[in-house]
Amino acid sequence: MADLVESEGLAEAERIARRDLARLNYPAANWVPERLTPDGRRVLDVLVVGAGMCGQTAGWNLLREGIRNIRVIDQAPYRREGPWNTTARMPILRSPKHLTGPDLGVPSLTFRAWYEAQHGLDGWDKLYKVKRLDWMDYLLWVRKVVDLPVENGVALQRVEPGERYLEATLSTGERVHVRKLVLANGRDGAGGFKWPKFPSFDPNDRKGKAFHTLEEIDFGTFAGKRIGVLGVLATAVDNAATALETGAREAICYARRPHLPQVNKSKGVSFAGFQRGQAMLDDDWRWKIYTYMLAAGSPPPHESVLRVQKLPGFGFRFAEPWLDVMIDSDGVTVKTSKAIERFDAVLMGTGFDVDMSRRPELAAFADNIKTWGDTRSPKDANANAEAALYPYLGPGFELREKALGRTPRLGDIHLFNWGSILSQGALAGDIPGLFVGSPRLVQAISHSLFRADVAQHVENMFNQEDPELAPTDYFVPRDKRAGTL
Ligand SMILES: Cc1cc2nc3c(=O)[nH]c(=O)nc-3n(C[C@H](O)[C@H](O)[C@H](O)COP(=O)(O)OP(=O)(O)OC[C@H]3O[C@@H](n4cnc5c(N)ncnc54)[C@H](O)[C@@H]3O)c2cc1C
Repeated sequence: MADLVESEGLAEAERIARRDLARLNYPAANWVPERLTPDGRRVLDVLVVGAGMCGQTAGWNLLREGIRNIRVIDQAPYRREGPWNTTARMPILRSPKHLTGPDLGVPSLTFRAWYEAQHGLDGWDKLYKVKRLDWMDYLLWVRKVVDLPVENGVALQRVEPGERYLEATLSTGERVHVRKLVLANGRDGAGGFKWPKFPSFDPNDRKGKAFHTLEEIDFGTFAGKRIGVLGVLATAVDNAATALETGAREAICYARRPHLPQVNKSKGVSFAGFQRGQAMLDDDWRWKIYTYMLAAGSPPPHESVLRVQKLPGFGFRFAEPWLDVMIDSDGVTVKTSKAIERFDAVLMGTGFDVDMSRRPELAAFADNIKTWGDTRSPKDANANAEAALYPYLGPGFELREKALGRTPRLGDIHLFNWGSILSQGALAGDIPGLFVGSPRLVQAISHSLFRADVAQHVENMFNQEDPELAPTDYFVPRDKRAGTL
């Protein structure tokens, strides 16, 4: 078997994976009854917004469940979905190479299967960690093999509560009636970039001198320049390294903290019990776990620190917070707690905010989305203002109403992104939680669609005719049968 696997190319791996899918009776037949709008158009059962790792896995999972009247859209062009080939700047993933998730439990669709098909078992053994662009290509390969249609270059612009269904407006100009909406729109999909607050800094007026570390940046313009970086976590460090590797003279990362965070706590809770169980806990436990995680932070991967610490011009400045940032046409003056510094450009490695009121797509619902702050005492919420803004989701990742009955279709919107972490654990963001998160989401959608159509399903059961016994001597035609037909 080992020899066979080693000799396989990707085409053979695809053949094996398709055979396995066929053996699993994939794709399942559609079972969701067709619904029409008053003007006779078919209502879409599920619209998945985002075809990154989470969106494509959810889309495939829906097809597997026999929910086939779906669309999966992504505003980005093909192979530009998610961070891997756009804003991520690390050569390798932080995660260990053996992680599964986007395969939904099908061995021939794992990253390992994809990699071994091209590099053999020996290549797999020698692989240290997954290369960033390999992960992108692997995801696209899974998408191709499972025949998931994705519409690239199509954005959700807004969603509103219609009379019977959600009404989604797309960038194509279409207005689509939708029974369920899955927002798999990424790390910033429950808020946006977190910008630091300084007296002289306006994120809307950055004069081409200040950037967020997770936006697309032309690093070539930093050649010979001195760059200040706010933050010392993964993206800050990888951005500093990228700047220096592309010719920057200096890149200095600043932190309030006295040293780097040392322990990645989420690594220690990356096991099935925690992943499955977190959402089942009461609010006090969930709040305790995540507010601790938020405060603890996570160290940059040691590979990123090794990468940057050997580069001339790199420096960490610990216990030196920035107090103000002043941008002019030539550069940026930063007032720190210890000095006044001058940089040619600054990079803000400050991460993302979770704050649903920032999502333009959800403006019609925003003020009625229940948050964790609504469930905590004012003292608790004030002490953890960031966590208090996280949406308080239901068991199937659905948004909930603050005031019941005011925004009736809100519960048909499922938030399958980072914003779900306080309610569900890390099931819709990092790779390791996906094998729990995607089936949970899809089961919830399946239950809800079934329940909504139960009268029709039962009527169909009454009317069902299946001449099982027709080839035998004991077949009785319907009009001659006694008792239950
Ligand atoms: C730099 C970086 C490194 C990471 N490394 C790891 C790692 O090593 N291990 C790990 O487990 N996790 C890692 N993660 C976390 C996580 O795995 C990734 O963020 C992953 O991309 C999450 O997948 P996603 O589908 O939720 O979001 P994304 O991959 O970001 O996909 C979201 C998609 O939604 C689309 N979209 C957004 N809004 C709309 C709209 N209105 N209409 C249509 N489309 C829209 C976007 O174009 C995007 O393609 C990393 C994250 C980052 C940022």
